[in-house]
Amino acid sequence: MDDAVFRRRESEVRGYCRSFPAVFTTAAGSLLRAEDGREWLDLFCGAGALSYGHNPPCATEAMIAYLRSGGIGHSLDLHTAAKRRFLATFEEVVLVPRNLDYKVQFTGPTGTNAVEAAFKLARKATGRTVIAAFTNGYHGASLGALAATGNAHMRRAAGVPLAHTVFLPFDGYLGSGLDTIAVIERQLADASGGLDLPAAVVVETVQAEGGINVAGIAWLRRLQELCRRHGILLIVDDVQAGCGRTGQFFSFELADIQPDLVCLSKAIGGNGQPLSLVLIRRELDLWKPAEHNGTFRGNNLAFVAGEAVLRRHWADPEFPAGIARRSAQLMAALRAMRDAHPEAELRVRGRGLIAGLDCRRGEIAETVSRLAFARGVVVERCGPEDQVVKFLPALDIPPEQLARALELVAGCVADALATPVAV
Ligand code: PMP
Repeated sequence: MDDAVFRRRESEVRGYCRSFPAVFTTAAGSLLRAEDGREWLDLFCGAGALSYGHNPPCATEAMIAYLRSGGIGHSLDLHTAAKRRFLATFEEVVLVPRNLDYKVQFTGPTGTNAVEAAFKLARKATGRTVIAAFTNGYHGASLGALAATGNAHMRRAAGVPLAHTVFLPFDGYLGSGLDTIAVIERQLADASGGLDLPAAVVVETVQAEGGINVAGIAWLRRLQELCRRHGILLIVDDVQAGCGRTGQFFSFELADIQPDLVCLSKAIGGNGQPLSLVLIRRELDLWKPAEHNGTFRGNNLAFVAGEAVLRRHWADPEFPAGIARRSAQLMAALRAMRDAHPEAELRVRGRGLIAGLDCRRGEIAETVSRLAFARGVVVERCGPEDQVVKFLPALDIPPEQLARALELVAGCVADALATPVAV
């Protein structure tokens, strides 16, 4: 593998390429290829950015046609025909059928940009400063979003105090018998509870980087209810769990809640084209013109690719049923892995097509991921100790490819557990 220039010239900050050493060249659907001819089934999908697989033909064709026609590429936040089509399609296919009346703010093109904008707007709208985040939450690497991110390794890199956030216990954080909403409620109600009334609570309905921790439906409803009662805005960070990952377009649909602000990124750009947005409850759209700015808010290729996958998949009422079928297949396979090794006390968590196999120890999950890569499957890890093997297959992965990948992973789990690991 010719990786000399990467090692010589690319910053030590590089991460994923260390876990998956190869020089990738082409990809189609859930298949990923390297220049040395190796091939993988991709169950990582660009950390959830490739929910329709690599190079979905509908997006590729739309983008090629757009480029050939001389379509404008970069446009700040100018009106463009491509952006109009994206917005109108998003309205028609996503918002209207769900009876949602959000305004759409395009931010800089990464998830953390959407989170920053949502926090800023929540602070502006309420006149309060504190954002309440949850244990094990992940919201991005820029300072505002990082302040709401639990991970100590990343927080340490900030170089400045990370301020104006508090951390609340996520669902199940204090053990299955302990109701964390009641804890938060008690603290807010107590004049000496020490919790300043936050501007907003930010939540991932399924914590992705934090270890695939799934918030219960009733818990989410009670969180919304608590927020409404105290005049706290509710932000759902759907950067990773949105766009169909959990089975419906928005991860919060299942709980039938309506957050005040929603952050979307990753898969909204169709085929991994950078695009991020914040959905804003109409009355909260208190921005003055250009008060929040960004050069790359008009990625027209992302509008084109994003529109193509919305039309191709989300205009099709059968699409969620296909996700549900694959989810059942994935969960059954993970439970079988768990049940095959009772002594290891593996745990399975997930919703829709975001799932985790908690190996309890980082070394085991690392071995699984490493063996899987050697045998032709890409699976990444997550969780506080990187102890969870994470599964994010394409929402339309052919079931036989999913079966093959999971069969290979099952072998890796068996071998990882059989290998003595240095403690
Ligand atoms: N929020 C969530 C829930 C995420 O999973 C991520 C990325 N893993 C982000 C925000 C930040 O997105 P980005 O890396 O594109 O800035």
